Amino acid sequence: MPLLEVEHLRVHFPVKPGLFARPRGHVRAVDDVSFAVEAGETVGLVGESGCGKTTVGRAVVRLLEPTGGSIRFAGEDLTALRGAALRERRRQFQMIFQDPFSSLNPRLTVGDSIGEALDIHRLAADRTERRRRIGELLASVGLDPAAADRYPHEFSGGQRQRIGIARALAVEPRLIVGDEPVSALDVSVQAQVVNLLQDLQRERGLAYLFISHDLAVVEHLSHRILVMYLGRIVESGPAADVCGTPKHPYTQALLSAVPVVDPDSKRSRIVLSGDVPSPIQPPAGCPFHPRCPVAEARCRTEVPPLHSLEPGRQVACHLA
Ligand code: SF4
Repeated sequence: MPLLEVEHLRVHFPVKPGLFARPRGHVRAVDDVSFAVEAGETVGLVGESGCGKTTVGRAVVRLLEPTGGSIRFAGEDLTALRGAALRERRRQFQMIFQDPFSSLNPRLTVGDSIGEALDIHRLAADRTERRRRIGELLASVGLDPAAADRYPHEFSGGQRQRIGIARALAVEPRLIVGDEPVSALDVSVQAQVVNLLQDLQRERGLAYLFISHDLAVVEHLSHRILVMYLGRIVESGPAADVCGTPKHPYTQALLSAVPVVDPDSKRSRIVLSGDVPSPIQPPAGCPFHPRCPVAEARCRTEVPPLHSLEPGRQVACHLA
């Protein structure tokens, strides 16, 4: 049984001209998304900004209420949970954010920020154990336990992200949803944090849902990749297959933008024209057709279903 099973997830937001006005439509931020994450696995969720990937992550950790579909964690339907029951289960799935500074309270020391999570779930019997556990958590993300007495503004971006990871680990989760967790960091620091996430996965058997617009980082970290466009998954499969032989024209375009070190590489850049269409009124037929370099007549009228090419590999394109 997968650790996380998302089935037919929909998250729609009403569009209102005023606070009390009647909705004039809906933003279909996530429309019929299904996937699973196994224990100890990293699934990368990739796409341009506005494709709905962050909304998927927030719905999974129940920071957003889904409009429809189901989210099962260890076999239990999270969408049916409320109040204390949901708070208790939240211990098992945590989120880390792009900007660790804004997710850390500047008035709390690092130790108290991490200790808050221990206090909420009563994971330390007394102050001595609380202090010991905070020190262990900081050491596990490569920081000096003495950092517990300092404030977030005293740290660099990479160190703050390590503090964010330590706080997420405090409650001993089984799944971590990372929402662009390395996008705001310098490239060298990105590599350190990505390596740290991989080490923690090996040590603790963690599962990750890793959300990013950066296909190179996602490829490096993920076992499987889901490519999202306009609220839907358009391609999924093992990371090596999706990045080695991308089948969907959108994945091919994303991949062509990844810098290649090899000077003899034949890869040429595919530049997509136009912007991502409005999720309030998505185009008829294939949602990608207004930007697709190989669109055919039927692409304007027929929605391509997400179909299996082989076990574990799916694509939503008439030509694949
Ligand atoms: Fe392009 Fe048509 Fe495939 Fe959509 S279905 S990605 S428009 S070729």
